[in-house]
Amino acid sequence: MMNAALAPAVKITGLEKSYGAYKVLHSISFSANKGEVVSILGASGSGKSTLLRCINMLEVPDAGEISIHGESYRLTQRSGFAPRAADPKQLLRLRSQATMVFQSFNLWSHLTILENLIEAPVHVQKRNRAECVAEAEALLERVGIADKRNFYPAHLSGGQQQRAAIARALAMRPKIMLFDEPTSALDPELVAEVLKVMRDLAAEGRTMLVVTHEMDFARDVSSRVLFLHKGLIEEDGRPEQVFSNPKSERFRQFISKHNA
Ligand code: ADP
Ligand code: MG
Repeated sequence: MMNAALAPAVKITGLEKSYGAYKVLHSISFSANKGEVVSILGASGSGKSTLLRCINMLEVPDAGEISIHGESYRLTQRSGFAPRAADPKQLLRLRSQATMVFQSFNLWSHLTILENLIEAPVHVQKRNRAECVAEAEALLERVGIADKRNFYPAHLSGGQQQRAAIARALAMRPKIMLFDEPTSALDPELVAEVLKVMRDLAAEGRTMLVVTHEMDFARDVSSRVLFLHKGLIEEDGRPEQVFSNPKSERFRQFISKHNA
């Protein structure tokens, strides 16, 4: 195993994924350093969600390697069979180091907000309950919804639910955070409060991979922009470079369509 202190936050090598005969990801390779905020852009269907889902093994890739802080997921690779996670304990541990925030929040509707935050830390990570409650309360304070701790998700606005989902992801003490269009399901007036939380996380040096259509966020907050087209990375660079001088003609069209 690579020295974790020197390893990139996330390193992806030769990642491939098909659904049936349809190849969604074609040999994706990239790595992100600790503290980097990478915006992943691309048209609908280009493979953005699949890429994020492979990073925490919600989808198991057909080929390639994924490592988080120097540790690679161990997969079984028997010819004729789809690969599977080889080590359930490692899977749980690595997955909780790469927590996901979904477009549709995905809070557990039968649990209160506080219970949502402590569920995985207590039951998956086996941490002390009182410590998890204290940490969860501090996180709810941070995202500005401490007063909602005993509410059920249905009684919160979309923006509050997404901030709760971000706090829930933070409660796992992740090494990297994955955001899949975190503001796309929100009414326009609620987008800013979620982006504000994400900007604060970026400013404190969190490693984040963010699939987004928010061009201002991609331009102002991210240290790096990837543009995916049909399962391939077509553009990869610093925002000031790729927005002002894109190499890919398709990315140029994408930018002008999104008024960036
Ligand atoms: P994006 O997030 O960029 O819109 P996705 O990664 O969701 O793209 O999807 C890429 C392609 O893979 C799409 O054509 C989609 O229909 C297909 N796809 C995604 N998930 C599945 C699945 N579970 N089964 C079959 N096809 C899928
Ligand atoms: Mg998607």
